[in-house]
This record gives sequence, structure tokens and C-alpha cells, in this order.
Amino acid sequence: MKLPFFLARKFVAAETVENTLPVAAQLKSSGFSTTLDLLGEYISDPQLATQAKESYISLVRSIDASDGAIDKNISIKLSMLGQKIDESFCIDNLHEVLTVAKETNTFVRLDMEGTDVTQSTVSIFEKVHADYSENVGIVLQAYLKRTTDDIARMCEMGARVRLCKGAYKEPAKLAFQDMPTIRDRYLEHMEKLITTGRYPGIATHDDILIAATKEFVRSNDIAPNRFEFQMLYGIRTDTQQAIASEGFGMRVYVPFGDMWYPYFSRRLRERKENVWFVLKNMFRK
Ligand SMILES: Cc1cc2nc3c(=O)[nH]c(=O)nc-3n(C[C@H](O)[C@H](O)[C@H](O)COP(=O)(O)OP(=O)(O)OC[C@H]3O[C@@H](n4cnc5c(N)ncnc54)[C@H](O)[C@@H]3O)c2cc1C
Repeated sequence: MKLPFFLARKFVAAETVENTLPVAAQLKSSGFSTTLDLLGEYISDPQLATQAKESYISLVRSIDASDGAIDKNISIKLSMLGQKIDESFCIDNLHEVLTVAKETNTFVRLDMEGTDVTQSTVSIFEKVHADYSENVGIVLQAYLKRTTDDIARMCEMGARVRLCKGAYKEPAKLAFQDMPTIRDRYLEHMEKLITTGRYPGIATHDDILIAATKEFVRSNDIAPNRFEFQMLYGIRTDTQQAIASEGFGMRVYVPFGDMWYPYFSRRLRERKENVWFVLKNMFRK
């Protein structure tokens, strides 16, 4: 049974590209950068992966046709391009997306999913990075124990990294489970990325991490244009506004599409208040 879209609209811009593009244009005209994410994940049918590739390409072309009204930046999931079917099929699909991205000067961020695909995502990224270094970036998750090594390699490669805490349920042998440790690791990675990485995205809604990042750049006299903050559509919009008005780059991650349920349920799991918000809206409708 499919839930009605109005339940998700706090977190998901729209169900169609047509209705999402004006949202992205509005955010841009209000001073935010954006990255558009066509929702969906873990495709197991090659035909659907081919369709997802076509949809990503069509999204890149639609953004390009907006003549600068919309940021040329999208976020994609390799599991949508057939990563779980066959890695070489996924790489071929990714090459096609990145070819159009390069041609249109668009940036494509590879979101990071669960630990079943972490190594595969990092290796695929490393394979394509040399050919598309201006057009592709990766996400690394502070809760994973392996991330210190991945960050060091990405800094050496000059790769663009988005740093987040990590949104999936992972076992204790692979991922730190307690928030103080995750925060400590996040801060360590943030400092390394801002000092030796290439234009990192500091993706968090956590006031402690945001304040520590601002303090780190101020006390080390680092220019605000060396990195950007990133937050999710619909979450802490007042904080997004405040960060942008302080002169920091603020990119809003704008999810859309009709396959919104897994993304929506991750946002509910993160914060019990969101469950109440959804329930209230359910009864208001
Ligand atoms: C731009 C962006 C891209 C991301 N990409 C990925 C990715 O590729 N892979 C991945 O695993 N994870 C990704 N994430 C999710 C991330 O890993 C975390 O799960 C998520 O950001 C929550 O962690 P937090 O650092 O914001 O802090 P939290 O400690 O979860 O939250 C701090 C505060 O932010 C507010 N807040 C946080 N979440 C919510 C919410 N759902 N609703 C309302 N308020 C909230 C609350 O005030 C909360 O107290 C991304 C996050 C962002 C911002």
C-alpha cells in the first residue's frame, strides 16, 4: 500500500521533476545552493536501473535548460544504477550520467548507502574520479570506523567529499554507535577535510558540529569559501537561513520523486518529533 504524498511533503519537495524545479529555483533565488536527489534505491531489475540512468540524465538536461535558475548539482545513488546487480553494468551507467554532467558542467554527488555497498561505492568512485574530477564527488560517514582511511585517500586524490554522520543501522564492528564518539570523529574529519581536502560539504543539522566548524575556520583564519554547509530540505530551515546570512555557503539537499518512502522513514527514525508532525498532519487532512 502506498502512503499519500502529503505525509512526506515536509521532507520531500514534490513527486515530479516539473514540480521540483520551481522549488529549487526559489531556494536559489533566496540565496541557497541546492542539490537535487531523485529518490529511489536498491534496484534489482536491470531495466529499472536503465530507466533510473535515463531519469538522471534527463534531470541533468532539465537543470541545464533552466539557464542558471537552478544549481547544476545532483545527488545520486549507485544502487539505483544497478550496483547490486553487476558492478560493471553500474559503472557503464555511471559513465553515461557523468558524460552528460561533464558536457553540461554539472556536479554529481554519489550518496553513501549502507555498509553492504560502502567498499563498492568507494572503488567505483575511485575508478571514475580521474576522468570526471570536476564533476563527481562522494559522501563519507563519520560513524564508520574505516572513514579515517577513506578521508586520507580522498584528500590525497583531491576528491570532493560530503561529510555526514551516517543514516543507516550498522553493526558495532563497523560503525561507532554512541553520539559522543560519532561527534568526535566528525570533528576530526571536518578539520582534516577543511584544511587538506577540496571544497568539502559539512552536512549536518547538529548545532554542536556547526558551531565547532565555524569556530575552527574562524580561529584558523580559513576563508568561508573553502567549504560549504549542507542540510536537508525541510529540516531546520531557520538555521539554514541564519548560516547563509552569516556569509557561509549553504546547500540544501532537495529530495523528490514518487519513491520517497525509504528516505521519509529514515527522517522519521532520526527524530521522534517528526512522527508527531506527520501524525498531526494526517488528522488535519
Ligand atoms: C545534505 C545531507 C546529505 C546527506 N547524505 C547522506 C548520505 O549520503 N548517506 C548517509 O548515510 N546519510 C546522509 N545524510 C544523513 C546524515 O547521515 C544524518 O543521518 C542526518 O543528517 C542526521 O544527523 P545530523 O548530523 O543532522 O544530526 P542529529 O544529531 O541527527 O540532529 C541534530 C539536530 O538536527 C535536527 N534534526 C536532525 N534530523 C532531523 C530530522 N529528521 N527532522 C527534524 N530535525 C532534525 C534536530 O534539531 C536535531 O536535534 C545526509 C545529511 C545531509 C544534511
